[in-house]
Amino acid sequence: MIRMVDLKTQYEHIREEIDRSVLDVIASTEFINGSAVKNFQAELEAYQGVAHVIPCANGTDALQIAMMALGLRPGDEVIVPAFTYVATAEVIALLGLTPVLVDVDPDTFNISVDLVEAAITPRTKAIVPVHLFGQSADMEALLALAQEHNLFVIEDNAQAIGGDYTFSNGTRKKTGSMGHIGCTSFFPSKNLGCYGDGGAMTTHDDDLAQRLRMVANHGQNRLYHHAVVGVNSRLDSIQAAILRVKLKRLDQYNAARQRAADYYDAAFADVPQLKTPVRQPNATHVFHQYTLVLRDGDRDALRQYLADREIPAMIYYPIPLYKQEAFAAYWPGGQLPVTEQLCRSVISLPMHSELDAAQLEQITSAVQSFFYK
Ligand SMILES: *Cc1c(COP(=O)(O)O)cnc(C)c1O
Repeated sequence: MIRMVDLKTQYEHIREEIDRSVLDVIASTEFINGSAVKNFQAELEAYQGVAHVIPCANGTDALQIAMMALGLRPGDEVIVPAFTYVATAEVIALLGLTPVLVDVDPDTFNISVDLVEAAITPRTKAIVPVHLFGQSADMEALLALAQEHNLFVIEDNAQAIGGDYTFSNGTRKKTGSMGHIGCTSFFPSKNLGCYGDGGAMTTHDDDLAQRLRMVANHGQNRLYHHAVVGVNSRLDSIQAAILRVKLKRLDQYNAARQRAADYYDAAFADVPQLKTPVRQPNATHVFHQYTLVLRDGDRDALRQYLADREIPAMIYYPIPLYKQEAFAAYWPGGQLPVTEQLCRSVISLPMHSELDAAQLEQITSAVQSFFYK
């Protein structure tokens, strides 16, 4: 059976180790902040090449806690892409900050650096690049801009964990480890997913790490001493135990995604109606999604044609953020042409670590036959 994400087959391959790890946590009764959480934290710090990982309850909380720890205040402007998952802008609005929605690059779907620069005002405090679909935003240019204007950079790394980015001087860094704070999600379908909800923040800065920990733990700096108004956001030990098993396999899982993407690319290279994902030479695409742009043709008809053959496909994302009722107040003035165009023309195919040759063949021949029927 072809699924957008096949967590069942993946689990079958690691069942013994997962089951043992989960049962160990239950036997230990260290359900909250147990050794599994501490061990996972240390392992993720090593993997990401950062001084601090602060686990939390989900990726949305990670973004919110990041904004709170940076001391952003109502009226402050935070620049985000208009073509992203809602969580990125939601937490900004929730805190009374102003999300400034800017257009994206038509090839990478990531925030346009030129448009970020044009959107900077004296009230701008931060930029939130989203490494959309698994490929790093143009971090070298964004970090330079942020430094010039004294802005914070919070990376939304929910879709790109395991990816990296190479600077022009040859330095290579993991996505999520380049800005002031990196935020990620362990939602089950993400590249590193647990079996429930989970998230984490990363930083190199010792003081910031302490603030992030404090905000995530009721603003507490000492037991029963609350320095700031915080939240309660924890990664539970059972999820951490599962993540330890899967972190060891993250590179292997991402390599499997890349092989599936290579197969799709080759199959669609000669289909003029399709634009395959554009890979940047200085970024490793980890294909959270494999997203095609339809240059021509009826997207709904393609999706139905695939559905009739039991092949799922999804539209990420069908509506620009500023056209959502909840975000109408943040209409950027005029339309953002690339975001509009992408919302009309993108379609994502099944993508996960367990796709086999027969499934890839079935998916690609169905797509090809739609165009050549
Ligand atoms: C999944 C996701 C989030 C939110 O993560 P949750 O764990 O679901 O809260 C934030 N940003 C992006 C880009 C995401 O894909």
